[in-house]
Amino acid sequence: MPHPVAWVPAEQVRHASTAAKSKGSDYPTGTEVKTLCGLNVIAVNSDVAWLWPTCANCCTAAREKTNSAR
Ligand SMILES: [Zn+2]
Repeated sequence: MPHPVAWVPAEQVRHASTAAKSKGSDYPTGTEVKTLCGLNVIAVNSDVAWLWPTCANCCTAAREKTNSAR
């Protein structure tokens, strides 16, 4: 499992990323994360953030990575 995909809420959208995490299963608020759609965003780790809409580009990229890992 070389590149597990994780979700990273930032700027009102939930992006996906394969960036390494410093600890735990989430990116702490304030962490700069490179997303699968090519952005550098600052993660927001809050209850509300997880309700934001999913980034379509990240969703597609995450699906491709998951499928190719099988
Ligand atoms: Zn994205």
